[in-house]
Amino acid sequence: MIDYQSIIDTIVTHSKEATNRGIVASYIPELANVSSQKFGIYILDANKKSYSSGEALEGFSIQSISKVLTLAFSFGLVGDELWKRVDVEPSGDPFNHLSLLEQENGIPRNPFINAGAIVIADILVSRLKKPKEEFLSFIQELTNDSSIRYNEKVALSEKRTGYKNYAAASLLKSYGNLHNDVESVLDFYFYQCSLEMNCQQLTSAFYIFMNHGKCQRGKIYLTTNQVKRINALMLTCGFYDEAGEFAFEVGLPGKSGVGGGIVALLPNTYCVATWSPGLNAKGNSKLGMAALEELTTKTGHSIF
Ligand code: GLN
Repeated sequence: MIDYQSIIDTIVTHSKEATNRGIVASYIPELANVSSQKFGIYILDANKKSYSSGEALEGFSIQSISKVLTLAFSFGLVGDELWKRVDVEPSGDPFNHLSLLEQENGIPRNPFINAGAIVIADILVSRLKKPKEEFLSFIQELTNDSSIRYNEKVALSEKRTGYKNYAAASLLKSYGNLHNDVESVLDFYFYQCSLEMNCQQLTSAFYIFMNHGKCQRGKIYLTTNQVKRINALMLTCGFYDEAGEFAFEVGLPGKSGVGGGIVALLPNTYCVATWSPGLNAKGNSKLGMAALEELTTKTGHSIF
């Protein structure tokens, strides 16, 4: 039997000792207020047993991790139609890169770069009567946790400074791949990114990707085939131009956010979330990546 608890306790000890913790994101001004000393890790296994260490119950801005959840919501609503508007190839580029959008006629490379997530946001804005409210309810239902909220300060902070996202949305609009107006799509996008969740809540939300689309309470949200596709995208595109490195070091499908969170999973086995706000040069949590490398190396539990 693998002792997850003692492994994650050791990981937390290592993280507390680390001197190079990466740099907390500041291009969204509100995120810069978070201490780089924070570190949490939480595991939820397929038998619904959980293991927690460090600041695993403290909420933070999930940022790009939300892109997997909007993808799941829209995939469940519109099915394979979705792939007409967004591709499934890794970009090898940073999350906010715009050049490929021009080369490929407004079809973003994948749903996890910002341009792709903005197209997914557009689909939800078209489909839902009250997009922000309905997306939040979806997350609350998925996790069975009605305490989850948007962080309005973070959303408004990004709204004031998110020029690259305005550029991406405008380019999409010029190619006819944005059906609503730029303002309302970005308003939804900035709110989805501002969702505040802790490591425990993230593993609970990502349980469906470990469990063939079925949540902890047994409700089916996605088909096995849809989950296969979302996990493949997490593996190949979840860490932007560091997806290769994450597969190499950790070997799990996963997703990062500039709030310092990472969620990853081994199908049929476990979901894990880490939070450490300091980022590496590629915008992924520095200690979170190191922690997951240590976890999969010590447990031998990766997809490889
Ligand atoms: N809201 C952020 C942005 O659009 C999300 C980026 C991220 O977490 N990688 O820039």
